[in-house]
Amino acid sequence: MAKIAMVTPLVEMDGDEMTRIIWQAIKEKLLEPYIDLKTEYYDLGLKHRDETDDQVTVDSALATQKYGVAVKCATITPNAQRVEEYGLKKMWRSPNGTIRALLDGTVFRAPIMVDCIKPNVTNWEKPIIIARHAYGDIYKSTEMDIPGPGKVELVFTGEDGSRQTLTVHDFKGPGVAMGMHNTDASISSFARACFNYALDLKQDLWFSTKDTISKTYDHTFKDIFQEIYDAEFKAQYEAAGIEYFYTLIDDAVARVIRSKGGFVWACKNYDGDVMSDMLATAFGSLAMMTSVLVSPDGKYEYEAAHGTVTRHYYRHLKGEETSTNSVATIFAWTGALRKRGQLDHIPELEAFADRLDRATLKTIESGVMTKDLAALAKLDTIKTVNTMQFLDEVRATMEAGE
Ligand code: NAP
Ligand code: MG
Repeated sequence: MAKIAMVTPLVEMDGDEMTRIIWQAIKEKLLEPYIDLKTEYYDLGLKHRDETDDQVTVDSALATQKYGVAVKCATITPNAQRVEEYGLKKMWRSPNGTIRALLDGTVFRAPIMVDCIKPNVTNWEKPIIIARHAYGDIYKSTEMDIPGPGKVELVFTGEDGSRQTLTVHDFKGPGVAMGMHNTDASISSFARACFNYALDLKQDLWFSTKDTISKTYDHTFKDIFQEIYDAEFKAQYEAAGIEYFYTLIDDAVARVIRSKGGFVWACKNYDGDVMSDMLATAFGSLAMMTSVLVSPDGKYEYEAAHGTVTRHYYRHLKGEETSTNSVATIFAWTGALRKRGQLDHIPELEAFADRLDRATLKTIESGVMTKDLAALAKLDTIKTVNTMQFLDEVRATMEAGE
């Protein structure tokens, strides 16, 4: 059979450790036999980031801006131990942070659901995709230890010298204080990314803050979302038959638990940090979570939500067998290929992505899975396979007509 041809290259960001090994195997076993794979390759493996003084990470983000779609392998974010392990010139920043800053993007995390692994919340039938605002609030705050009685004030000094002063608290004894901020520009980018992404998926968008208590700070988030919705998205949402729904964070939490799923939930930075971990666990496993970075001008970078699975990699290096789950990395590739197919009008590429997704899920539902899933699955017979066997089994499922 003729291989599927591509027009625009995908930006391919290779990575580290166990996921780097899986990356290569996915290409060889599941993609290259079917697609005339066209990628612009960037090696974000830690060694090469170090050799290029991390320029390769910046270049890969710029390429994403140019071509519009990227697929990324998990990468090591160096800490002191990694600096020693790899003999690094310096403790390079997180590649995801660098890429996110350059693309000004929002991260959407979506669980991959299989029939034999039930979410802990039994009424969840469809995935809940969470979008976390990745700028400001307590993550860029200034904190102060208050040693004893005295006044903490919030002061704004305008460029023209004008001043506004508010009292935070008159301390009668020791305590703590914190100053945090956000910008209209960042909130607007976040809002547009969320509106676009939900529209893309034809799913409702939920947004929640604590605006009843935070009448200026959180209320600004609520107002900016509403203004952008009314001015830029209302007509499109109505045409698509989807809804933008704002509610108080407390109410949102209750409704999320009672829901059937199948919507995008936009969260402020802290809410998103906490809720995304709760959702990942409740849906089953981090190894079944994909992640996509979407920029406000519609550039997409797909990846697995998990890391480089270091513990498995060290076992692999010792020649021991590993049973590492490749599902989220496969879905990162299919997400990127599907998007490329949509943008370049290549229906065969979109259909292939759907087919590979189905084959992956069908393999698991037939009882063939890696160790992490075997521990969660409710099936009578389960065949636990190793890392490479799983990919071979998915290939066999595809060949058998999926
Ligand atoms: P991790 O790689 O996600 O792995 C943590 C543990 O979760 C693993 O040891 C394994 O548990 C389980 N796990 C995760 N993914 C799995 C998979 N696909 N299949 C089976 N089990 C899986 O997190 P980490 O160990 O904290 O971080 C390792 C490295 O990844 C770090 O250098 C970190 O900087 C990097 N990281 C990168 C990204 C990214 O690029 N997006 C994200 C997070 C972390 P068991 O060992 O119990 O089997
Ligand atoms: Mg967290």
